[in-house]
Amino acid sequence: MEIITLKNEERRSVLGQVSEDVNLETLDSLRPEIDKMKDLLLEVEGLGLAMPQVGLLYRCFIMRKGSKIETVINPKIVKKGKVLAVHKEGCLSVPGKELGITRPRKIDVEYYNEEGKFKKGRFVDLRSCVFQHELDHLNGRLILDRVG
Ligand SMILES: [Zn+2]
Repeated sequence: MEIITLKNEERRSVLGQVSEDVNLETLDSLRPEIDKMKDLLLEVEGLGLAMPQVGLLYRCFIMRKGSKIETVINPKIVKKGKVLAVHKEGCLSVPGKELGITRPRKIDVEYYNEEGKFKKGRFVDLRSCVFQHELDHLNGRLILDRVG
């Protein structure tokens, strides 16, 4: 497994595609891929990694906080706060670029965890930013598409 970047001419088109929902009935079959993604993320010390970034077009991403990694499946933002915030964002698929991106500071979300359990959550600031960044990947959007 490798992280696909814009420099990868053969495979980069996958980064612009919309991913499909994970079928929770067959979640077990994705678990080995999720484990590999976790190893990768720890290795590169990234904050988040979405399945399309490793060539898998499923609505799943992982988020790291210290050494703890959370798996987020079929995510939805159910409410966006009105207050916006700008964060400098980098992306493992867009090497060497850091861009100031404006997003809602607070979001309420719903998703399924790695055990297929339904979760609700509220994220603020950095975690909110990472969640929205990774969700963008599932819709084929990169930070470059958010600027200007
Ligand atoms: Zn990214």
